[in-house]
Amino acid sequence: MDFLSFVDITLFFLLFAFFVYIFASVTITNLHKVYLTFHFSMMLWPICQFAIKTMDTPKVQLFYLKASFIDMCLIAVGWLLFTIFLTGHSLFLRKKMSVLLFVPAILVAACVIVNPNGRFVLPLQGSYIQRSYGPLFWYSLTILIGYIIVSLYMMRKALISNKGPRIKTQVKQVLRGIIVMTVFIFLDIFLNVVLRSSLPAIPGLTSVGILLSVIFFVIAIHRDKAFDLVKIAHQDIIDTIDHGILVLDDHETVIEINRSLRPQIDLHIGSRFDMANLLSKGQSNGHIDVFLHTYQWNPLKRTQIEMKFPNGRHIHIQTAPIHVDRELVGRVVTFQDVSELHRLIDETNFQNEILQERNQSLILIQDELSQTNQKLEQMAITDGLTGVYNRLYLTQKLEHEVMNNLKYHMPFAVILLDIDYFKLINDNYGHLVGDQMIHSTVEAIKQSLRQTDILARYGGEEFIIYLPQTSQSQASLLAERVKSTVESNQMTVKNIPHSLSITISMGLLTINNFAFESLRNPSTYLNELLESVDKALYRAKEEGRNRIVSIVR
Ligand code: GH3
Ligand code: MG
Ligand code: MG
Repeated sequence: MDFLSFVDITLFFLLFAFFVYIFASVTITNLHKVYLTFHFSMMLWPICQFAIKTMDTPKVQLFYLKASFIDMCLIAVGWLLFTIFLTGHSLFLRKKMSVLLFVPAILVAACVIVNPNGRFVLPLQGSYIQRSYGPLFWYSLTILIGYIIVSLYMMRKALISNKGPRIKTQVKQVLRGIIVMTVFIFLDIFLNVVLRSSLPAIPGLTSVGILLSVIFFVIAIHRDKAFDLVKIAHQDIIDTIDHGILVLDDHETVIEINRSLRPQIDLHIGSRFDMANLLSKGQSNGHIDVFLHTYQWNPLKRTQIEMKFPNGRHIHIQTAPIHVDRELVGRVVTFQDVSELHRLIDETNFQNEILQERNQSLILIQDELSQTNQKLEQMAITDGLTGVYNRLYLTQKLEHEVMNNLKYHMPFAVILLDIDYFKLINDNYGHLVGDQMIHSTVEAIKQSLRQTDILARYGGEEFIIYLPQTSQSQASLLAERVKSTVESNQMTVKNIPHSLSITISMGLLTINNFAFESLRNPSTYLNELLESVDKALYRAKEEGRNRIVSIVR
């Protein structure tokens, strides 16, 4: 081989090396990679065969012959890898022992390259166009057939296993391809190697086999979309999803806009996306500047913001980086219309407000009711004219208090008082003046009482005072005080030129006897007490009024 042809072949290998590099580093599926390697190695075979026949020098012929057999090793390994991927065993290749798969092929390649003493191939009549194969050839052939047998075995296993119908049709189609190719390779060996001496050389048999099997693969790939399925699915998802999806490269150039975003945004593939400009058209509750800062200066970080645009739509914008080997190559911006969510939230808030208002008015009504109730309760126990307790309240109170006092031996007193000659007041000045005087007298009595004493209207112009924890002497003192306060109470009344005053008579009952029997029937006991104090009052009236008659029980 001369220098010039070396330049060409070197360039070819350099280009091939680049091809392999790109091929290995781009993001396509491993199935793609394996198939394309396999296809490439199949393409090499006919080229090498062509070269053997067109070259004059046996050395160059031998080079291409060796190349074509090394290529055959590649095809055999490619077959096996393709089968492994197709039948879903690709995980097996992650194991270290998977390297052993390549060892027989490498051994064969070594035999081909070294061709020791022409044991692999020898030229006939000084040319490799006609050649005789040695024992190493047959040995290598056996190994390569071994690869095919393993592939066939795996495919058969896949066909009888419970793999999905898609995999099975693919495997069937590929199986046809492998059988056609094997038949042609055997034909080639049989006709051109075994029967070489008795038959003229038939060219291109293996190449035809390769071509036919490739046709089977092409059909399988096209019909079943074996390579594109995932991509088709992705595209389908991207185009049918409600969210807008924008894919940008690392220069913010639009690479992809999905179907739902296209009508919403004035962008097309290839145009530049300007996030700041987009955000300037809307408003946000969040911090636009923080979002933009992260978006522009920290592109590896995911970030999001919610915007409200002039058309009233609320859009949740989210950005995520696309990395390849930890390097940013672009990003995905998604737009999610959350207006409906906002509408629902607003409606719920509105309903909530209405409910709260209703609640508030209910609470108000409840307050009013309870106030009215309190008033009613108060009214039920107080006397309208004087504002002191009424008889009902006092008797109930006394029932309880008296029993307690007896139980704990606490002395107490009861005063019953009545205004003297009140009929005269009414007769002389009228009922209204009488009323005023009753009111004024009650105010005077109250001034003389202690906090714990209870004053109640007993009826007409009669009043009763309960003095808890009071001894006889204390009670007498208190009664005197009440009597003199009332006596000195000068009342001025409308239309009457002089002031008026009245006196009262009082019955005072003090209890110091805590007889046990009294506890048996409280209301009878209480009636007895009231009768006694009434008698005392009667006596006070009898004895001339404006006095206190005191009795002790
Ligand atoms: P005494 O008690 O000293 O024996 O003579 P009296 O004139 O006060 O007789 P009595 O206590 O029996 O009569 C009470 C009178 O008081 C009868 C009634 O007309 C009058 N009276 C009762 N309640 C009221 C009231 O609420 N207002 C007015 N103005 N008069 C009343
Ligand atoms: Mg009276
Ligand atoms: Mg009276």
